[in-house]
Amino acid sequence: MEHLSKRINSLSQSQTIAMNQKTRDLQSQGIDVINLTVGEPDFFTPPHVKEAAKKAVDDNFSFYSPIDGYMDLRKAVANKFKVENNLTYTPDQISVSNGAKHALANNIMCLIDEGDEVIIPAPYWVSYSELVKLAGGVNVIIKTTLENNYKLTANQLEAAITPKTKALLLCSPNNPTGSVYSKEELKAIADVIAKHPRIFVISDEIYEHINFVGSHESIAQFESIHERVVVINGVSKGYAMTGYRIGYMAGPLWLTKAVSKLQGQFTSGASSIAQRAALAALTSDNTYTKEMNVAYKRRRDLVLRLMKDIPGLKCNVPEGAFYVFPDVSYYFGKTDGKVTIKTDMDFSLYLLDKANAATVPGEGFGEPNCIRISYANSDEKLEKAMIKIKEALALLK
Ligand code: PMP
Ligand code: GLU
Repeated sequence: MEHLSKRINSLSQSQTIAMNQKTRDLQSQGIDVINLTVGEPDFFTPPHVKEAAKKAVDDNFSFYSPIDGYMDLRKAVANKFKVENNLTYTPDQISVSNGAKHALANNIMCLIDEGDEVIIPAPYWVSYSELVKLAGGVNVIIKTTLENNYKLTANQLEAAITPKTKALLLCSPNNPTGSVYSKEELKAIADVIAKHPRIFVISDEIYEHINFVGSHESIAQFESIHERVVVINGVSKGYAMTGYRIGYMAGPLWLTKAVSKLQGQFTSGASSIAQRAALAALTSDNTYTKEMNVAYKRRRDLVLRLMKDIPGLKCNVPEGAFYVFPDVSYYFGKTDGKVTIKTDMDFSLYLLDKANAATVPGEGFGEPNCIRISYANSDEKLEKAMIKIKEALALLK
């Protein structure tokens, strides 16, 4: 420990990864745990994408790629933005990286200086606050409410802005709440940002394709702030390609160039094989993506229906992504005679022990009254898990 940098010692471990690992360890010991922790599609990568990866091996895509990714992939990403989001970017404004997480890390490193404040609406995805910390920035967490579907309002944003505010980190569809911002809600936020020329928006849109309420809206669409928005996206969720590790950013050229400089020193270009596979994903029609979306919506409805039978759980209706994020604080202070539930972690561990259902405590997402359940799992397993959770919670008095 004494040899480690202060930087790494002050970094928390990713809760989603930690709980997933714990579950895998239990499963490898032969314990039948239903994994509702990690947010990744349970579907296989579409066949034509797998074929493209195999072909890339045979075609000798074994050399370093350009730092920002192959030009045809960057063109395909630019085209995706035009066709799906009506956003105009030149391929030079696109940079491909090792997953959306890496694109986020790159941009945070390039934008945030020591002491800069970054506004993050909570609940937020676990890595945001840690990446900001790594960059020396200061997290300014704004608590959103269940009543407002866990969405940041323009008034809340305005009230949090100080002369030190450097960026706003927005995620829609949201992990962990599944909230989706409408065009009007984004416009209200953009109007506030427009008044503050120093503030940049990092818009994480990785769940774009998992949306149950209509078309995806990006905050980059508003001309008044377009030059001050970087969109982060990737193929992990929409195309069931989490292990391929391909994400991308689109933003002003000066930022893309900075990211390229950083990536050139840190990691070089993303995997050549995975880039060819991502190209196949982005240039085919979205039939697979749409089919997965139908399944996620059905599973969301299933989980919400079963959750209604469980006393005390309070939850918004997620409009996208594949998570439910119930408030479980009703159970704090209750006991089964042996274990007393005091925190979200106690609650998650209790479910793991008594229901063999693995979930993620809310604290890592900035909301310790909640837990996250990923419903990217089969209908049968979800049903089994929810019934077991109900039985386990009924023992708490
Ligand atoms: N942003 C959010 C909100 C996520 O949930 C994830 C999932 N890990 C990521 C970014 C990173 O995705 P990727 O697998 O492309 O790194
Ligand atoms: N985004 C997923 C999650 O939230 C994957 C795990 C991670 O990268 O943190 O579970």
